[in-house]
Amino acid sequence: MNDLKKRKARAAAAVELLKKEFPAARCRLAFHSPLELLVKTILSAQCTDERVNIVGETLFRKYRSASDFAQAPLHELEMDIRPTGFFRNKARNIQSCCRQLIERHRGEVPSTMDELTALPGVGRKTANVILGTIFNIPAVVVDTHVIRISRLLKLTNNADPEKIESDIMNVLSEKDWIIFAHLMSEHGRKTCIARRPACHTCVIAEHCPSSLSKTRKK
Ligand code: SF4
Repeated sequence: MNDLKKRKARAAAAVELLKKEFPAARCRLAFHSPLELLVKTILSAQCTDERVNIVGETLFRKYRSASDFAQAPLHELEMDIRPTGFFRNKARNIQSCCRQLIERHRGEVPSTMDELTALPGVGRKTANVILGTIFNIPAVVVDTHVIRISRLLKLTNNADPEKIESDIMNVLSEKDWIIFAHLMSEHGRKTCIARRPACHTCVIAEHCPSSLSKTRKK
């Protein structure tokens, strides 16, 4: 089997086992609208999803539309999102982003990579969250769990998120692109924990070239 075939087989086996392990894997950010997910994804940079959900609950009772965010006094918005960290930058990005949503998209969240990444504060990772979770368009989100575990699984040798995204798209069936990041996130929290992976209890150890357990690897 050549290297690409091996990586494809490894990716498919890992995903199937992790789907069984985490049948409820999905986006951990709570949302009721595309705008809410977009704002919360911006807030989730360097912050836990749990904290963003707590802050977001109050936030979205106060700000209900792109124009509510766009018109808010900047300092007030900063204080409202302060517990998520980097609040000055995030508040500026959320306001600029919402202003562009109003100017270019009638206040709605667009559904293409180009339109999304043209928005202030929106990179490929955030855009892929929106494409996959809101519009069900196959997209690979590359977050810290995806970077770390896909490298351990040797699905990629790259460190650059955009190259990792492309490598994963190459080895994984398109139907699994959206679920992949959710599975990596669950696996990364429960078992393949940074700096102390529990390989001896890992359900995909048999397929992992980096396994520290004695299980035979394929
Ligand atoms: S075998 Fe170890 S390194 Fe590989 S995915 Fe499982 S926990 Fe992570």
